[in-house]
Amino acid sequence: MAKLPEKLTELLKLLQKTNEDEIDCDAFWEIAAELSERDTLDIDELKGYLHHLELCPGCAEEFALLKAMVNDD
Ligand SMILES: [Zn+2]
Repeated sequence: MAKLPEKLTELLKLLQKTNEDEIDCDAFWEIAAELSERDTLDIDELKGYLHHLELCPGCAEEFALLKAMVNDD
């Protein structure tokens, strides 16, 4: 438990960092499909993934719709 804040800080730092490995919309949805089938996350994937959600209103909107559909079921 004591480690958690430290890890969280690390994660936030990663997310704030300018992206060297920015993903495009295709990659975003590829990762989205992968994440839905996996329990574990790769930090680099997650980083690019969340960053794209922030940068791309189109994907963010679609993603929100998708999430709403899944939750609705
Ligand atoms: Zn996009």
